[in-house]
Amino acid sequence: MAEAKIIDGKAYAAALRGRIAEEVASLKAQHGLTPGLAVVLVGEDPASQVYVRSKGEQTQAAGMYSETHRLAADTSQADLLALVAKLNADPKIHGLLVQFPVPDHIRQADVVAAISPDKDVDGLTVINAGRLASGLPALTSCTPLGCLMLLKDTLGDLSGKRAVVLGRSNLMGKPMAQLLLAADCTVTIAHSRSKDLPALCREADILVAAVGRAEMVKGDWIKPGATVIDVGISRFPSRDPVAAAAGKTRLVGDVAFDEAKAVAGAITPVPGGVGPMTIACLLANTVSAAKRLHGIDA
Ligand code: NAP
Repeated sequence: MAEAKIIDGKAYAAALRGRIAEEVASLKAQHGLTPGLAVVLVGEDPASQVYVRSKGEQTQAAGMYSETHRLAADTSQADLLALVAKLNADPKIHGLLVQFPVPDHIRQADVVAAISPDKDVDGLTVINAGRLASGLPALTSCTPLGCLMLLKDTLGDLSGKRAVVLGRSNLMGKPMAQLLLAADCTVTIAHSRSKDLPALCREADILVAAVGRAEMVKGDWIKPGATVIDVGISRFPSRDPVAAAAGKTRLVGDVAFDEAKAVAGAITPVPGGVGPMTIACLLANTVSAAKRLHGIDA
């Protein structure tokens, strides 16, 4: 059997960012509207710092307004919620996200509940999750949205496909399953208590792995010809000892890539698959939020 097609998320995301930049230019020219994104980071988690920097850079590169708020790790929950309230009311800001995880003394659920659903570009509020589950227009979590775009680009119509989503987080697994259901797939959500994961996965025409366990999904878990979307990111020291000593890391997905690509029909690599789609979809969500807030038709 031929090796799997490698799904190039980096190229797809670059093209998407290009389309978003064009739309931003036209919103400015026709409506005097500059979509604005505010990102709030509490503490110094190194991976979060990298994500937040990229979000700011890519927002500006698309011609949008960008604000990054870096708060000390000991910032109180009350002070964080006060900033969220200020950004909710700021007319320059159409998309607002607080980078998670937040330090232990802050309750993530309280932060999510404080974000205006109209600006909730991570799709985490109960309102947006409920709208998605009810088939209503919603701001939807960026990574699953990116996965769905890659799946539609690879497979076209998803109707009737058997989809298995590994992982049931509010950020990833649950919205992914809802998006696949809305695309008329037959969806199974699996998690840490599911029995016989290999057999479950082998039923899937579409397998989305969002677990965070390096190379958990083996080649023999995959139905021949299936499309595999690997969301997982685990960090390990670089294989190059000099680079490792300098603190360089390498990213590993949830799927044993070399084994899987010999069986699958198409597969996303890590890095270069799902990862680049997340920020591109964040920009897309911010543009959607800005248009909705200003009553501009999609
Ligand atoms: P999470 O909140 O930790 O959720 C992980 C899910 O995996 C949970 O539902 C958990 O089940 C399930 N799980 C854990 N171990 C399992 C096992 N041995 N067998 C079956 N299921 C298992 O993580 P998340 O936020 O959804 O993220 C998942 C992964 O995607 C992480 O590696 C994260 O870094 C990555 N990610 C990447 C991007 C990107 O831009 N590429 C974006 C978001 C997340 P229980 O519910 O039963 O505990």
